[in-house]
Amino acid sequence: MSQTATSTSFAVTEAPDRRGPEQIAELLANPGFGSIFTDHMVMVEWDAEQGWHDARVVPYGPIPLDPSAAVFHYAQEIFEGMKAYRHADGTVWTFRPERNAERFNSSARRLAMPELPPTLFLDAIKELVTLDQGWVPGADAGEMSLYLRPFMIATEEALGVRPSNRYLFSVIASPAGSYFPGGLEPVSLWVSDQYVRAAAGGTGAAKCGGNYAASLASQAEGIEHGCDQVVFLDAVEHRYVEELGGMNLFFLYADGRVVTPELTGTILPGVTRSSLLDLLRERGHQVEERRFTIDEWRDGVASGEITEVFACGTAAVITPVGRLAWNGGELDMPVEHTVTEDLRAELLDIQYGRAEDRHGWLYQL
Ligand code: PMP
Repeated sequence: MSQTATSTSFAVTEAPDRRGPEQIAELLANPGFGSIFTDHMVMVEWDAEQGWHDARVVPYGPIPLDPSAAVFHYAQEIFEGMKAYRHADGTVWTFRPERNAERFNSSARRLAMPELPPTLFLDAIKELVTLDQGWVPGADAGEMSLYLRPFMIATEEALGVRPSNRYLFSVIASPAGSYFPGGLEPVSLWVSDQYVRAAAGGTGAAKCGGNYAASLASQAEGIEHGCDQVVFLDAVEHRYVEELGGMNLFFLYADGRVVTPELTGTILPGVTRSSLLDLLRERGHQVEERRFTIDEWRDGVASGEITEVFACGTAAVITPVGRLAWNGGELDMPVEHTVTEDLRAELLDIQYGRAEDRHGWLYQL
């Protein structure tokens, strides 16, 4: 899908100290993740009388808020994560942004926040990336991209526990380096038996800041046990595999079957997950979205039936899982990553415009 003009009009205030090509090139040489920001940001306000209004692009900088603003106290906050990719011909694209717009609205409904018209979501991203296009790394820069972070916060000054009457939608952008500068590195995972991420009826399927705040103690526990990330199990029986703190999981079997935990309402419906399900089906894999236990995982790896395990998400695309550890044991995953690497390459080729976009997943910015 591609489109050129935006239908929302944004008042643009250019940053007086906007950085030039040389300064940007210097920052892009080693951007890391999420610590350098472009020159501008989008702001759009909402209140009950006017709905969404005052759409503007302003110089990147602090947002003045009253200390009683609802977001500081009751955490009405949602966000999205996506990337802008530069193709070899210089054009800039993003991947399935309408999915992020839909997920943003489903998060908004869960947190009792106002929905955002998807055209406004898409226009805001387009407006920011157009103005800050010098920050989208070149096609020759490996797996680099411009990470986009749309978010919404409750801004009303009020300590009553109720939905806020005012909100701010904003988009910021941050150049992101290659996640694996030295080639694919398998991650190790800690199975948390002390903490859960989400329970039925909770906010697990929403992308709200509170879910990530709640995952940090378990992440710290995983790191203490020498692991990179945490696998969360279901909140009731503590045996169904759900997802990682920021990625979905896939299990590949020797007979070509692929299993991924089904979306039960406690898992974030990943855009990468959904795209990989399509690519795997096209490759002739039998794909099963179902509940999957930690014992099936351990037994399948031990018996050799499971041949590859990987995690996926926008930031790292696809990451092989190398080791699983829990209170009382650990297990190395198979060392084969053939399908994992092949799928990763296929998805990256689509995102960076090196392969035909046969699904219509790309959206020109
Ligand atoms: N699960 C969680 C909890 C996440 O935060 C993310 C990252 N958005 C994902 C899965 C992967 O989603 P996506 O493929 O849309 O990035």
